[in-house]
Amino acid sequence: MNDAYQAGPDGRGHFGTFGGQFVSETLMHALDELREAYGRWRKDEEFIRKMDEDLAFYVGRPSPVYYAQRYTAAAGGARIFLKREDLNHTGAHKINNTVGQGLLARHMGKKRVIAETGAGQHGVASATVAARLDQSCRVYMGEVDIHRQAINVFRMRLLGAEVCSVTSGSATLKDALNEAMRDWVTNVDDTFYIIGTVAGPHPYPEMVRDFNAVVGREARRQMLELHGELPDALVACVGGGSNAMGLFHPFLDDVDVKMYGVEAAGRGLAGGEHAASLCAGRPGVLHGCRTYLLDDDAGQIRHTHSVSAGLDYPGVGPEHAWLKEQGRAEYVSATDEEALGAFHQLTRLEGIMPALESAHALAYGFKLASDMRPDQSVLINLSGRGDKDVQTVAELEGLSL
Ligand SMILES: *Cc1c(COP(=O)(O)O)cnc(C)c1O
Repeated sequence: MNDAYQAGPDGRGHFGTFGGQFVSETLMHALDELREAYGRWRKDEEFIRKMDEDLAFYVGRPSPVYYAQRYTAAAGGARIFLKREDLNHTGAHKINNTVGQGLLARHMGKKRVIAETGAGQHGVASATVAARLDQSCRVYMGEVDIHRQAINVFRMRLLGAEVCSVTSGSATLKDALNEAMRDWVTNVDDTFYIIGTVAGPHPYPEMVRDFNAVVGREARRQMLELHGELPDALVACVGGGSNAMGLFHPFLDDVDVKMYGVEAAGRGLAGGEHAASLCAGRPGVLHGCRTYLLDDDAGQIRHTHSVSAGLDYPGVGPEHAWLKEQGRAEYVSATDEEALGAFHQLTRLEGIMPALESAHALAYGFKLASDMRPDQSVLINLSGRGDKDVQTVAELEGLSL
């Protein structure tokens, strides 16, 4: 562990050699405007008060830290605590960020928001906030994903968003991303682009982290109140990395608190059917920043696989790449099968059905706790609830609803 951990990013959005702004000249103007606006409003008392109010009365914060007694007994080691982001409005941590960016859009005088989504969760969180703030909302989604995620598409439409089908390339998330960027460049005067994780060009990785850091700030305080001391380890799943970064960030200076980010190992790291950029990828440039990613020998972004749509992304936020390089956080993985096992186990032992994304963190956290002493503790981020995954689980196990 590195005692001299440096907080980032620097003024140009670099986390060590990662991050930055790898975008066309036309996008630089939009990013500059956003960086300036965020720099100003983040320190504005009225903005902060409004944000706190929305998190309390709309999202339902603070979410509790729950001592999972039966889950702990089953692991037979360290005490296991769960940060209950599954109890938030719309069922996951993503709303923390969209509430923040929606509010920022309003303060910047932008009447229109756009987003891109793969699994549809970020699209729903964006459409939710846009409905409340009376912003027009367009969500770009690959045609293939639109078919796979029909319920979320319907949700977005009920909320008043326009879901725009993207047919170029592989018609999935990365193509939707390109389309959203194109829209933003063309309509930057009245449009705000809501990115859903700690990736993309500066200032997004920093801004999305800050909006999710409420998770870690609360958890730190709650552990001290409930347990009298900080946890020995934090565990969170990593897709793009926003729920993990939000939990980790307020603990970075607590050098005795270990951090584990759990990536999706899919059908196994060896076979290539996974989404584990930090465990099995290499540095490169993706979606406007330098980070770890999954590509082939020719430098083409590889097809990824995970049982959980929310972890199925070929890159990762640049700050995680930096934490990995500094050794401040450790990145591990859990397979589809392990995640499914954890999904059932938590459901049966605690009556809490986790999102399949969060089940990756549970699978690793459970193993970790079982190798630790009873006087130690592990805090696992339960990033979302599993209601959205019931059909997936049924199909995987050959059951009909
Ligand atoms: C989207 C999602 C994730 C993955 O996104 P991160 O940016 O890595 O947090 C994890 N859990 C849930 C429940 C999600 O909806």
